[in-house]
Amino acid sequence: MNAIAPGTPPLVDRFGRVVDYVRLSVTDRCDFRCVYCMAEDMEFLPRREILSLEEILAAAEAFVALGVGKIRLTGGEPLVRQNILWLVERIARLPGLRELTLTTNGSRLAKMAAPLRDAGISRINVSLDSLNPERFHELTRTGHLEDVLAGIAAAQRAGFRRLKLNAVIMRGRNDDEVLDLVGFARDHGLDISFIEEMPLGQIDEHDRAGTFLSSEQLRAIIDARHTLTATEESTGGPSRYWRMADSDTRVGFISPHSHNFCHLCNRVRLTVEGRLLLCLGNEHSADLRAVMREHPGDAAGLREAIRTAMDLKPERHWFELGTEPQIVRFMNMTGG
Ligand code: SAM
Ligand code: SF4
Repeated sequence: MNAIAPGTPPLVDRFGRVVDYVRLSVTDRCDFRCVYCMAEDMEFLPRREILSLEEILAAAEAFVALGVGKIRLTGGEPLVRQNILWLVERIARLPGLRELTLTTNGSRLAKMAAPLRDAGISRINVSLDSLNPERFHELTRTGHLEDVLAGIAAAQRAGFRRLKLNAVIMRGRNDDEVLDLVGFARDHGLDISFIEEMPLGQIDEHDRAGTFLSSEQLRAIIDARHTLTATEESTGGPSRYWRMADSDTRVGFISPHSHNFCHLCNRVRLTVEGRLLLCLGNEHSADLRAVMREHPGDAAGLREAIRTAMDLKPERHWFELGTEPQIVRFMNMTGG
């Protein structure tokens, strides 16, 4: 059963928040090793521990049947998952789903943009932290800027509108590129969001407290060049958007540290191990893989497990700089 049965109540947590947005992590693997996301040597999950594409589809069906209207595929790098188009085609067809979106590092987008559009992806976010090829390689440890730029161009040619860039800015690493990144977005008709670095997973490459730049500081830098006007636009997440008078480009700030929009949170995340994470900044979770593997094909049982898990959604998160990360999982496990 895919369509929302008439009278199905929405997913609501203990604080009255309606959950209608799910981020599905389709792999923990990645072809990059971004310095803020991963350690240089990462161990990835063995195959038996990750959800099969069929299991991810079953989870997506259950969420949509419970009123979820928006699904974002993420990872790790979602485009390194084998047969990802098989999954995209099937999720996109679920009756009741309004939007299927994707977050990618762009490395494989040059080849995959058109097939992804045909398969039913409606919008894409591409992560881009530097326009300098050497620095890009240093920050991603393995990535090539030219591939990502070719990917962005291919996505535009394939007809994706409102492509959005995501950038993590670190003091002393790429903070001199804030205006260049905004300029690139303006020149190419893209939106851009700046994400505050979050303490997910233990990294040794840099001291997160030392490189932290708040959204307020970034906004001041941009505002001095292009006057920014706040908008009411929101996606129910921790992101706020601003506009410039002379461009369609929207500038967003995702500020888990400096602003707390937990009271508006409408989303949950499913890791590729099948852990339903109720909050980005807390470990509260429910094991949907166990439910699916103990009772294969029991769609009603899966929906019930999801509805019950809503009671675990905490009121808010606490990210503190300068302390050990409270969250040991890396962002590639979390599904950013
Ligand atoms: N691989 C894809 C990508 O990079 O777009 C999708 C997954 S990635 C985990 C999703 C987003 O999380 C990226 O925009 C990335 O910059 C961001 N990210 C990763 N680690 C982060 C951290 N510790 N703090 C803030 N953002 C982070
Ligand atoms: Fe890979 Fe995305 Fe993490 Fe970079 S941010 S290492 S591209 S998952």
